[in-house]
Amino acid sequence: MKVTIDHSVCTGHGMCYANAPEVFVDDEQGYGQVAGGGVVADRLAESARRGARSCPERAISVVERSDQ
Ligand code: SF4
Repeated sequence: MKVTIDHSVCTGHGMCYANAPEVFVDDEQGYGQVAGGGVVADRLAESARRGARSCPERAISVVERSDQ
């Protein structure tokens, strides 16, 4: 699956990496990043969705198929 963060709306609340640290990390300014460059293993799908749901800015998109 593919996970992206719209950095134009991410405000660095940190909810994504607090709730799903296996998928999301913070950069040096506290903004969210997707670990591994955005391609997330299927076994981490639920964590990716949990992180996306926790984002107050709805900045995170989860695309189930990695070829999309
Ligand atoms: S929870 Fe949303 S706004 Fe906060 S750091 Fe993560 S992507 Fe950015």
